[in-house]
Amino acid sequence: MRHYNIPIFIPHLGCPFNCIFCNQKNIAQHEPAPAASEVPIIVQKALDTIPAAWPGREAEAAYFGGSFTALDKKLQEDYLLVLQPFLDAGSIDGIRISTRPDFIDHSILGFLLDNGVTTIELGVQSLKDEVLKASCRGYTTRTVINACGMIKEYGFKLGVQLMVGLPGDSYEYDMDTTIGTISIEPDMVRIYPVLVIKDTGLEKLYLQGHYQPLELEEAVSICCEMFLRFQQKGIEIIRMGLHPAEELREEGIVIAGPFHPAFGELVEQEAFKKQARVLLQNYFNIKNLDSDLKLFTNYRDLSKMIGHKKANLSYLNHLESLPCVKGVQADEQIKKDELGIGPAGSDQPEASLSRTEFLEIYLQ
Ligand code: SF4
Repeated sequence: MRHYNIPIFIPHLGCPFNCIFCNQKNIAQHEPAPAASEVPIIVQKALDTIPAAWPGREAEAAYFGGSFTALDKKLQEDYLLVLQPFLDAGSIDGIRISTRPDFIDHSILGFLLDNGVTTIELGVQSLKDEVLKASCRGYTTRTVINACGMIKEYGFKLGVQLMVGLPGDSYEYDMDTTIGTISIEPDMVRIYPVLVIKDTGLEKLYLQGHYQPLELEEAVSICCEMFLRFQQKGIEIIRMGLHPAEELREEGIVIAGPFHPAFGELVEQEAFKKQARVLLQNYFNIKNLDSDLKLFTNYRDLSKMIGHKKANLSYLNHLESLPCVKGVQADEQIKKDELGIGPAGSDQPEASLSRTEFLEIYLQ
């Protein structure tokens, strides 16, 4: 199944909240939300760029950027109404919205269900009350658990958005949040490292010296631990890191924090590095070779295994008392997320380690 989201960006000008990391109000002033009447044009334009409906294609029109169910009810109705002809024609298969956990109740969910919404992404951010409080989110972990339970009860697909590096957050808290999120059993997760954005409460804290953002390496390492735990439980990670939207690229918008345009790729490279280390050690333990070795990957994973500027190869070659890895070769027999290993001169792997096998060893 190939999934397509058709994004409709609705920055939330009227949001009554003041989350410490958020500059939606500024974005909304510069980029107003489209009127409901403009939405069909946006959707049709996007549909023209993706394959026509077929059994293996799933497309959702997706309202992002604000808290949909906190919008004026009439506007919610209008936004959903204009999508009904696309649903009736089968050109889209559903509607996705994102919202806050405290704007979910039975009447809201009944309304969304009746109007074709299929997926709800909740901006959860953390399952630690101290972190939620310090970030001025305005709800508690209990609210999140109740909202997620109701969303699943009604049969929606559930997405959970998490942030790492919020005020009061720590590695231990991020692992607790990961374990808590796994127990909620969402269909998908997004993980965003916190950035200090201009004109936010967090910028003030940062400039006063009361908040220190994560370093890029730290954020990659934490997100990798979360990514591997979600992957082990079969929970899809649909994004890591903010979309490098134009407004974030403008000079002076990101004040500090672990911004990288390919953050998710860095996290996946880190995962391959860990997996390669385990494979290398296991292979060496069995063979006890001191000649050079070669790794094998699926062709889609080649750059993830090599790493940015060959960083992963360099790391593996600095491990004490292990043989050198002379190179990485794509091999069609190797499945996605699997690694193979063999002598440097060979054209085929002698041993391999799937991601599932690696996770069993690494997370035991
Ligand atoms: S994160 Fe969402 S709820 Fe919080 S201030 Fe921004 S738009 Fe409002």
